Amino acid sequence: MTQETAPAPGGKHWLLAERRAALPARDKKHRPLRKAIHVMCFLVFLLLPATNLMRFDLPRQRFYFGGAQLAISEFSILFFALMFLMCVLIAGAIVYGRIYCSYACPQMIFSEWSLALERWAEKRAQAWFAGWSKATRTVARGMLFYGILAAVSVVLAFGFTSYFVPPRDLLSRLLHADLVTVGGFTGAVVTLLAFIDFAFLRLKFCTTICPYGYLQGIVQDRNTLLVAYQDPAGACIDCRKCVRVCEMGIDIRKGPFQIECVHCGDCIDACEDVLRKVGHEGVIQYSWGETAGSGQKESWLRRIGLRDAKRWVILVVMAGYLTAVSLALALHRSVMIRITPDRTTLFSVLPDGRVVNRVRLDLANRSAKDVAIQVWTEGLPGAQVGLASNPLRLAPGESVERTMDLAAPAWPGAQELNPIKVLVQSSDRPAPEAYEMMFIMPTKEN
Ligand code: SF4
Ligand code: SF4
Repeated sequence: MTQETAPAPGGKHWLLAERRAALPARDKKHRPLRKAIHVMCFLVFLLLPATNLMRFDLPRQRFYFGGAQLAISEFSILFFALMFLMCVLIAGAIVYGRIYCSYACPQMIFSEWSLALERWAEKRAQAWFAGWSKATRTVARGMLFYGILAAVSVVLAFGFTSYFVPPRDLLSRLLHADLVTVGGFTGAVVTLLAFIDFAFLRLKFCTTICPYGYLQGIVQDRNTLLVAYQDPAGACIDCRKCVRVCEMGIDIRKGPFQIECVHCGDCIDACEDVLRKVGHEGVIQYSWGETAGSGQKESWLRRIGLRDAKRWVILVVMAGYLTAVSLALALHRSVMIRITPDRTTLFSVLPDGRVVNRVRLDLANRSAKDVAIQVWTEGLPGAQVGLASNPLRLAPGESVERTMDLAAPAWPGAQELNPIKVLVQSSDRPAPEAYEMMFIMPTKEN
């Protein structure tokens, strides 16, 4: 049994141990955090459509946002919601670079999982068919990888399509292998595209097709978060581990502005692993801009990225859109009712002497339930509302645009202009709504 001896003071090993002990504590590794966030994002991607927090329902022309059900025609809410989401994406690119790509983008998450699955299939095929020919192992690897990927593609396509077709409806189409309806056929096409993407395209998509990388090149500035190689002390030992771990296949030492770099931080972890063994901190870091900080402790606002006036302006614009969306949602009503006087003719007189004023009626049921809408008047004695059925019944998604006659006999004290109220009670509301207008009667001269 050998006995361990402490390194002799002043010797090579002693100096190395001293240097290692003097190093500041290293930051947590980025990769485990990134992988945990990938799993969370995957669950959010799959479960979000079931919560109605954000999804379209194309068959019924509905948009669900923040739990509210909106008609596609409710343009103001859609506009503010889309502007807010666009602001979040652009602000993310300006402040945090491509952190979204490496931490939360489904393309990156599933591409990395696909690469890992391919490596796993390769190892399994080698182990399970060790005594077989190379051709057999290749076929086994292909069957394992493509078989599992095909099953996963169905799940991914289901998750994606359920942002546009109700998940329950989609599940029933999937279980019936429906390839005939638009929803079923779309699901099948998305499955095929997902399979092709994650079998062959994967991370090439990020550097060739995806516009977000190009957008990043346009919007980044001297305060954008980057991954940068900074080695003023010449500590790099050219081990190339940072290059080997990079899924995007680049060498970060060639510069921080390479379009392929998604700021994942894997090379930071790799360099720390290597250089700490030789008593030096890693020479690749996350950095606000290309240059290293002054070493002084910065305020928490600067540390979260609010480093200049431009970022404060972005924050204010985002807060503005968020307020607009919240207000629009708060004011949103699931049954839209609009009553306005129709003055194409001021009035008409029926053969029995009653006077008719015409009113315009715009109704839209944006809820998921049938509603009944009843109309009557106040301040108009003996009035009759010209509706074939009162209450009117509206199915979900149904809208009515029409005119309606209010007929009333002349009454003692009637004037040329008589203030009246048209009251409308919708079955989804606790109390009727009153619309004030003038009922026009003929003058004596008329
Ligand atoms: S260079 Fe580093 S941060 Fe950039 S993609 Fe490669 S491993 Fe990730
Ligand atoms: S991992 Fe670090 S030490 Fe190794 S080549 Fe990359 S930068 Fe140099």
